[in-house]
Amino acid sequence: METIVSGARPTGRLHLGHLHGALKNWIRLQENYRCYFFVADWHALTTDYATPQGIGQSTIEMVMDWLSVGLDPARSVLFRQSRVKEHAELHLIYSMITPVPWLERNPTYKEQIKELTGKDLSTYGFLGYPVLQAADITIYKANKVPVGVDQAPHVELTREIVRRFNQLYRSIFPEPEVLLTETQKLPGLDGRKMSKSYGNAVFLSDPPAEIDRKLSRMMTDPARVKRTDPGEPEKCPAFQLHKIYCTPEEIEFVSTGCRTAGIGCLECKKVMIKHVIEDLAPFREKRAQLEKRPEVVEEVLQAGHQAAQKKASETMSEVRETLGL
Ligand code: SF4
Repeated sequence: METIVSGARPTGRLHLGHLHGALKNWIRLQENYRCYFFVADWHALTTDYATPQGIGQSTIEMVMDWLSVGLDPARSVLFRQSRVKEHAELHLIYSMITPVPWLERNPTYKEQIKELTGKDLSTYGFLGYPVLQAADITIYKANKVPVGVDQAPHVELTREIVRRFNQLYRSIFPEPEVLLTETQKLPGLDGRKMSKSYGNAVFLSDPPAEIDRKLSRMMTDPARVKRTDPGEPEKCPAFQLHKIYCTPEEIEFVSTGCRTAGIGCLECKKVMIKHVIEDLAPFREKRAQLEKRPEVVEEVLQAGHQAAQKKASETMSEVRETLGL
């Protein structure tokens, strides 16, 4: 079985954007690969170093959602990055061989410096986070890294670091390949990308009435000012959810109704909202059970830690031996 590694920053409760962006994909992958899925709590510190207090609770909330949605600890190794110290050791060794210009030309680095203006990101850790990523991936000798098309360049830097290590010393790491995955980008309630920080998210753990309330207010085609104005579904953020959740007949019905002003937006959205609520019902049930026994989450992370550490420590023994340390 080939190995896959992927991680997510501890963001607390997860929303529909996470479900369709990564989680559904992870759930599929665990059928055919040996998967290591980790809570990237050290990565959270690269941007949130000044406010680390929430990371612990956000980790528990996120992993509770992982388990509720179907990540299976019997098939996937689920763990906290910061508990497997070998990630840091390999990061240190990679940092010795990674030229600084490789990091400075990273487009995400430049973008985030511009975007996250309220934070001082002129830190060593922030510049070097792709080196930590390379360590996260290769310490498990991953063959593939699942990413969306826009993130593929990130894996290329890991491949460059691996090539440099293998050429300088000894070829012990496979060059991880990009496993291009189709992820659906979900608009939030206001039409921008769904994000907790924008306050436009529908959380997986929202009660049905809350889902109904939020989605009933979701942005629609701005051309439909009055009920009698015809609209265009492709210009409507809410319709992106119809495309995911509704049957072909329902999509046909609402599309025609929208273009002819035959139905109102609320009537249209109710068709989709019903499916969203139904689809999340098994999730809510599983999460309610876990909320009664939160110690299960800690047990899962502990077992995952042991499995991850075993592999990471084997790899680091090989690295130290290769370097003669
Ligand atoms: S009728 Fe439906 S598809 Fe058309 S704008 Fe309103 S919510 Fe969107």
